[in-house]
Amino acid sequence: MLDFPSPAVLWVPMIQHDGPAGCMVVDVGREVERGELIGEAAEAGSLNVHAPLTGRIAGIGHVDTARAFDVPAIQLEPTESKGVDEGARETRVSSSTLPDELKDIELLADLADGAGLTDFGLPTVGLGDKLRRAASKGVRDIIINTIPAEPTLLVTKLLLAKYLDDIIKATQWLYSALDARRVWLAMDRSDARQVTGYRSATSGTPIRVVGLSNKYPQGSPTLLTKVVLGREIPYGQSPIDVGVLVLELEVLPALVSAVRRNEPMVDRIVTVGGPAAKRPGNYRICVGTRYADILGYVGLSHSVVRIIDGGLMKGASVKSLDAVVTKQTSSIMLLDQDTDRIPNPGPCIHCGWCQEDCPAGLDPMALLDVVERGCPSEAKSLFPHACIECGLCSYVCPAELPLTEAVVEIKQKVSLDV
Ligand code: SF4
Ligand code: SF4
Repeated sequence: MLDFPSPAVLWVPMIQHDGPAGCMVVDVGREVERGELIGEAAEAGSLNVHAPLTGRIAGIGHVDTARAFDVPAIQLEPTESKGVDEGARETRVSSSTLPDELKDIELLADLADGAGLTDFGLPTVGLGDKLRRAASKGVRDIIINTIPAEPTLLVTKLLLAKYLDDIIKATQWLYSALDARRVWLAMDRSDARQVTGYRSATSGTPIRVVGLSNKYPQGSPTLLTKVVLGREIPYGQSPIDVGVLVLELEVLPALVSAVRRNEPMVDRIVTVGGPAAKRPGNYRICVGTRYADILGYVGLSHSVVRIIDGGLMKGASVKSLDAVVTKQTSSIMLLDQDTDRIPNPGPCIHCGWCQEDCPAGLDPMALLDVVERGCPSEAKSLFPHACIECGLCSYVCPAELPLTEAVVEIKQKVSLDV
């Protein structure tokens, strides 16, 4: 993992997940320590926000992120000369000093809330809320996903190699706190040595490694629930509703840090890549860092025409270099003229590919038709809420029609009557 230096200024947004804003609790001019609370979760669904680095609060304003505009934000001028010291982080880590069992799910959820942890999914929610919901629904099976949610996200191998002790420890806590039957570690089976290695490394723990084909969008919670446990999720429901908690691998080391020393979530390992990136790699980047600073440090091999935050299939285009990374930023792709795929929509040729490739068995063409005719009420019989927003329909469409956008739009307009 590559070190990302401290920028001259951070703009830390009060919304870094799919939920309401945190409430600012610091004034301009105040000196804050790294990890100090600067935004408080004041309403249901909001998340705590912490100072990513030690420094001075220089201003209050608004900032854009890849997924939201004009978000209330705190300007922080760091006084630390560089980013998170990975060496220091490692020397303080010793999972063996922590208990194997933490039977109180409420305690784990509170610690996750205190640290402002997200579930690292899309849409992104607070981990504490997710754990409480799992407990209230009597979840007994846990799936930890190591299969990349997007083909371009490469960080899970690194996390497995670097944080295996933490991953096992957090798994044991979730297992005991939820009184679970089994924890499944879903892994790409194409690397047989890796699967065998982790089977051996996790023997004697509640973890069972399951090798799956890595066919996009296999990492989706809906598909993992079906493939690993054979459970179909009824229309409009989630894995938790059928007794399964699906978590991304990144949750586990973050949860251990929160339990061990109340270490909040102030940065994220971000895969920076794409053909225009001069020094691609996995960087630990503080939330609130501007894309301009990232481009300045990583460098450009040639002109970038588009920046995607979050992967090529489900990511969001970055509209301004002054926008900042958040807890939702898993990757940053720098596309050049040759690789950017700007759609040029034409008429539907009724090839049926969108229907054939939809993993949810939907008819995206019919849903687009409903949107274009302005008749959202007709969409109910087309089950739009089953869409997992994988983007495959748009990807395969030879007419380059905005099918995913249409389905997402109709999901927002049509109520979920089940
Ligand atoms: S994005 Fe398209 S292909 Fe993917 S689940 Fe939704 S409708 Fe189906
Ligand atoms: S893939 Fe595109 S062109 Fe083919 S049926 Fe679907 S919408 Fe029409």
